[in-house]
Amino acid sequence: MREERKSMLIVISGPSGVGKGTIYNKLLDNDPSLTFSVSVTTRGPRPGETDGIDYFFISDEEYQKLVAENAFLEHATVHGHSYGTLKSQVEEKMEKGLNVVLDIDPQGARSVMASCPECVSIFLLPPSYETLRQRLYGRNTDDPKEIERRLGNARGEIEQAHLYQYVVVNDNLELAYDQVSAIITAEKQRTNRFFPVVE
Ligand code: ADP
Ligand code: 5GP
Repeated sequence: MREERKSMLIVISGPSGVGKGTIYNKLLDNDPSLTFSVSVTTRGPRPGETDGIDYFFISDEEYQKLVAENAFLEHATVHGHSYGTLKSQVEEKMEKGLNVVLDIDPQGARSVMASCPECVSIFLLPPSYETLRQRLYGRNTDDPKEIERRLGNARGEIEQAHLYQYVVVNDNLELAYDQVSAIITAEKQRTNRFFPVVE
Protein backbone atom coordinates (compact mmCIF):
# COMPACT_ATOMS: atom_id res chain seq x y z
CA MET A 1 0.00 0.00 0.00
CA ARG A 2 1.31 3.40 -0.97
CA GLU A 3 -0.33 6.42 0.51
CA GLU A 4 -0.15 10.14 0.10
CA ARG A 5 -1.57 12.70 2.45
CA LYS A 6 -2.31 16.37 2.08
CA SER A 7 -1.42 18.45 5.15
CA MET A 8 -4.19 20.08 7.11
CA LEU A 9 -4.52 23.36 8.89
CA ILE A 10 -6.26 23.07 12.26
CA VAL A 11 -7.70 26.25 13.79
CA ILE A 12 -8.35 26.11 17.55
CA SER A 13 -10.11 29.02 19.24
CA GLY A 14 -11.85 29.66 22.51
CA PRO A 15 -11.83 32.25 25.28
CA SER A 16 -8.66 32.85 27.24
CA GLY A 17 -8.28 30.24 29.98
CA VAL A 18 -10.59 27.64 28.40
CA GLY A 19 -7.71 25.18 28.01
CA LYS A 20 -6.58 25.56 24.39
CA GLY A 21 -2.88 25.36 25.23
CA THR A 22 -3.39 22.45 27.62
CA ILE A 23 -5.21 20.45 24.96
CA TYR A 24 -3.07 21.19 21.92
CA ASN A 25 0.20 20.69 23.81
CA LYS A 26 -1.00 17.20 24.72
CA LEU A 27 -1.99 16.61 21.08
CA LEU A 28 1.46 17.76 19.92
CA ASP A 29 3.12 15.40 22.43
CA ASN A 30 1.13 12.43 21.18
CA ASP A 31 0.91 12.95 17.43
CA PRO A 32 4.14 13.51 15.47
CA SER A 33 2.16 14.59 12.40
CA LEU A 34 1.14 17.76 14.27
CA THR A 35 3.14 20.93 14.68
CA PHE A 36 2.37 24.35 16.11
CA SER A 37 2.50 27.61 14.19
CA VAL A 38 4.37 30.06 16.43
CA SER A 39 2.61 33.44 16.23
CA VAL A 40 4.08 36.87 16.74
CA THR A 41 2.75 39.10 19.49
CA THR A 42 3.41 42.53 20.90
CA ARG A 43 2.43 41.42 24.42
CA GLY A 44 5.27 40.74 26.82
CA PRO A 45 6.33 37.18 27.70
CA ARG A 46 4.81 35.56 30.79
CA PRO A 47 7.10 33.79 33.23
CA GLY A 48 8.08 30.49 31.64
CA GLU A 49 7.35 31.58 28.06
CA THR A 50 10.21 31.32 25.57
CA ASP A 51 10.74 33.51 22.51
CA GLY A 52 10.45 31.42 19.35
CA ILE A 53 8.62 28.60 21.13
CA ASP A 54 5.50 30.14 22.66
CA TYR A 55 5.53 33.27 20.51
CA PHE A 56 7.92 35.54 18.69
CA PHE A 57 7.78 38.50 21.07
CA ILE A 58 8.22 41.66 19.01
CA SER A 59 7.83 45.44 19.30
CA ASP A 60 4.98 47.48 17.80
CA GLU A 61 7.42 48.77 15.15
CA GLU A 62 8.48 45.25 14.13
CA TYR A 63 4.82 44.22 13.97
CA GLN A 64 3.91 47.16 11.71
CA LYS A 65 6.83 46.27 9.46
CA LEU A 66 5.52 42.69 9.10
CA VAL A 67 2.03 44.04 8.30
CA ALA A 68 3.52 46.29 5.61
CA GLU A 69 5.47 43.34 4.18
CA ASN A 70 2.24 41.30 3.93
CA ALA A 71 3.93 38.62 6.07
CA PHE A 72 0.75 37.56 7.87
CA LEU A 73 -1.77 34.89 6.94
CA GLU A 74 -4.00 36.74 9.43
CA HIS A 75 -3.47 39.23 12.21
CA ALA A 76 -5.68 40.88 14.82
CA THR A 77 -5.80 42.97 17.96
CA VAL A 78 -6.77 40.72 20.86
CA HIS A 79 -7.19 41.87 24.48
CA GLY A 80 -5.38 45.10 23.57
CA HIS A 81 -2.30 43.50 21.98
CA SER A 82 -1.38 42.62 18.40
CA TYR A 83 -1.07 38.99 17.32
CA GLY A 84 -0.39 37.46 13.92
CA THR A 85 0.15 34.17 12.12
CA LEU A 86 3.19 34.27 9.85
CA LYS A 87 2.62 32.88 6.35
CA SER A 88 6.20 31.55 6.44
CA GLN A 89 5.51 29.46 9.58
CA VAL A 90 2.46 27.79 8.08
CA GLU A 91 3.83 27.31 4.56
CA GLU A 92 7.18 25.81 5.63
CA LYS A 93 5.52 23.35 7.98
CA MET A 94 2.80 22.30 5.53
CA GLU A 95 5.40 21.83 2.79
CA LYS A 96 7.09 19.30 5.09
CA GLY A 97 3.81 17.34 5.18
CA LEU A 98 2.94 18.34 8.75
CA ASN A 99 -0.51 19.20 10.07
CA VAL A 100 -0.34 22.71 11.48
CA VAL A 101 -2.20 23.85 14.62
CA LEU A 102 -3.16 27.53 14.91
CA ASP A 103 -4.25 28.89 18.32
CA ILE A 104 -5.96 32.09 17.17
CA ASP A 105 -8.87 34.28 18.21
CA PRO A 106 -12.25 34.32 16.37
CA GLN A 107 -11.31 37.38 14.25
CA GLY A 108 -8.22 35.56 12.96
CA ALA A 109 -10.15 32.30 12.65
CA ARG A 110 -12.81 33.93 10.44
CA SER A 111 -10.09 35.28 8.22
CA VAL A 112 -8.34 31.87 7.92
CA MET A 113 -11.66 30.08 7.30
CA ALA A 114 -12.28 32.50 4.41
CA SER A 115 -8.81 32.21 2.87
CA CYS A 116 -8.32 28.44 3.58
CA PRO A 117 -11.85 26.95 3.42
CA GLU A 118 -10.46 23.42 3.68
CA CYS A 119 -9.09 24.10 7.18
CA VAL A 120 -10.47 22.25 10.22
CA SER A 121 -11.96 24.61 12.81
CA ILE A 122 -12.61 23.76 16.46
CA PHE A 123 -13.99 26.02 19.18
CA LEU A 124 -13.45 25.15 22.84
CA LEU A 125 -16.12 26.15 25.35
CA PRO A 126 -15.85 26.30 29.13
CA PRO A 127 -18.61 24.57 31.12
CA SER A 128 -19.46 27.97 32.70
CA TYR A 129 -18.17 31.55 33.00
CA GLU A 130 -17.40 30.86 36.67
CA THR A 131 -15.15 27.95 35.68
CA LEU A 132 -13.39 30.18 33.15
CA ARG A 133 -12.79 32.78 35.86
CA GLN A 134 -11.38 30.11 38.21
CA ARG A 135 -9.06 28.78 35.49
CA LEU A 136 -7.73 32.25 34.65
CA TYR A 137 -7.10 33.11 38.31
CA GLY A 138 -5.77 29.59 38.98
CA ARG A 139 -3.31 29.80 36.07
CA ASN A 140 -1.84 32.84 37.79
CA THR A 141 -0.14 34.23 34.69
CA ASP A 142 -2.03 37.50 34.28
CA ASP A 143 -2.83 40.30 36.72
CA PRO A 144 -6.47 40.76 37.86
CA LYS A 145 -7.02 43.70 35.49
CA GLU A 146 -5.87 41.63 32.52
CA ILE A 147 -7.98 38.67 33.69
CA GLU A 148 -11.10 40.82 33.95
CA ARG A 149 -10.45 42.22 30.48
CA ARG A 150 -10.20 38.66 29.12
CA LEU A 151 -13.37 37.59 30.95
CA GLY A 152 -15.15 40.65 29.57
CA ASN A 153 -14.20 39.60 26.03
CA ALA A 154 -15.18 35.95 26.58
CA ARG A 155 -18.92 36.42 25.98
CA GLY A 156 -18.40 38.00 22.57
CA GLU A 157 -15.94 35.26 21.61
CA ILE A 158 -18.29 32.47 22.75
CA GLU A 159 -21.10 33.95 20.64
CA GLN A 160 -19.01 33.08 17.59
CA ALA A 161 -18.70 29.36 18.39
CA HIS A 162 -21.32 28.44 15.76
CA LEU A 163 -19.00 29.69 12.98
CA TYR A 164 -16.67 26.73 13.57
CA GLN A 165 -17.10 23.20 12.22
CA TYR A 166 -16.72 21.62 15.67
CA VAL A 167 -17.43 22.64 19.26
CA VAL A 168 -15.94 20.83 22.26
CA VAL A 169 -16.73 21.58 25.90
CA ASN A 170 -13.62 21.43 28.06
CA ASP A 171 -15.07 20.34 31.39
CA ASN A 172 -13.42 16.97 31.94
CA LEU A 173 -9.95 17.38 30.38
CA GLU A 174 -9.55 13.73 29.32
CA LEU A 175 -12.93 13.75 27.56
CA ALA A 176 -12.25 17.08 25.82
CA TYR A 177 -8.80 15.86 24.73
CA ASP A 178 -10.29 12.61 23.38
CA GLN A 179 -12.94 14.53 21.47
CA VAL A 180 -10.45 16.92 19.84
CA SER A 181 -8.17 13.99 19.08
CA ALA A 182 -11.09 12.08 17.49
CA ILE A 183 -11.92 15.07 15.27
CA ILE A 184 -8.32 15.21 14.02
CA THR A 185 -8.20 11.43 13.50
CA ALA A 186 -11.38 11.53 11.41
CA GLU A 187 -10.35 14.62 9.44
CA LYS A 188 -7.07 12.89 8.44
CA GLN A 189 -9.08 10.16 6.70
CA ARG A 190 -11.11 12.52 4.50
CA THR A 191 -10.82 11.57 0.84
CA ASN A 192 -9.68 15.09 -0.07
CA ARG A 193 -6.60 14.58 2.17
CA PHE A 194 -5.89 10.85 2.15
CA PHE A 195 -4.92 9.12 -1.10
CA PRO A 196 -4.15 5.44 -0.53
CA VAL A 197 -2.99 3.38 -3.53
CA VAL A 198 -3.69 -0.33 -3.30
CA GLU A 199 -0.94 -2.26 -5.13
P1 ADP B 1 -5.83 28.87 27.17
O1 ADP B 1 -4.63 28.35 26.37
O2 ADP B 1 -7.12 28.57 26.48
O3 ADP B 1 -5.70 30.30 27.57
P2 ADP B 1 -4.78 27.11 29.28
O4 ADP B 1 -4.51 25.85 28.49
O5 ADP B 1 -3.62 27.93 29.68
O6 ADP B 1 -5.88 28.02 28.53
O7 ADP B 1 -5.61 26.66 30.56
C1 ADP B 1 -5.95 27.60 31.56
C2 ADP B 1 -5.85 26.93 32.94
O8 ADP B 1 -6.91 25.97 33.08
C3 ADP B 1 -4.53 26.19 33.14
O9 ADP B 1 -4.10 26.39 34.47
C4 ADP B 1 -4.92 24.72 32.89
O10 ADP B 1 -4.10 23.83 33.63
C5 ADP B 1 -6.36 24.69 33.39
N1 ADP B 1 -7.22 23.70 32.71
C6 ADP B 1 -7.30 23.44 31.39
N2 ADP B 1 -8.25 22.51 31.14
C7 ADP B 1 -8.79 22.18 32.33
C8 ADP B 1 -9.83 21.27 32.74
N3 ADP B 1 -10.51 20.52 31.87
N4 ADP B 1 -10.13 21.18 34.06
C9 ADP B 1 -9.46 21.95 34.96
N5 ADP B 1 -8.47 22.81 34.65
C10 ADP B 1 -8.15 22.94 33.34
P1 5GP C 1 -2.49 34.78 25.04
O1 5GP C 1 -2.09 36.20 25.24
O2 5GP C 1 -3.32 34.25 26.20
O3 5GP C 1 -1.36 33.87 24.64
O4 5GP C 1 -3.49 34.76 23.80
C1 5GP C 1 -4.59 35.64 23.78
C2 5GP C 1 -5.47 35.35 22.58
O5 5GP C 1 -4.76 35.62 21.38
C3 5GP C 1 -5.99 33.92 22.48
O6 5GP C 1 -7.36 33.97 22.13
C4 5GP C 1 -5.22 33.34 21.31
O7 5GP C 1 -5.96 32.37 20.62
C5 5GP C 1 -5.03 34.58 20.45
N1 5GP C 1 -3.90 34.47 19.52
C6 5GP C 1 -2.68 33.94 19.74
N2 5GP C 1 -1.94 34.00 18.63
C7 5GP C 1 -2.73 34.57 17.67
C8 5GP C 1 -2.54 34.90 16.29
O8 5GP C 1 -1.49 34.68 15.68
N3 5GP C 1 -3.59 35.48 15.66
C9 5GP C 1 -4.77 35.77 16.27
N4 5GP C 1 -5.73 36.31 15.54
N5 5GP C 1 -4.99 35.46 17.56
C10 5GP C 1 -3.97 34.89 18.25
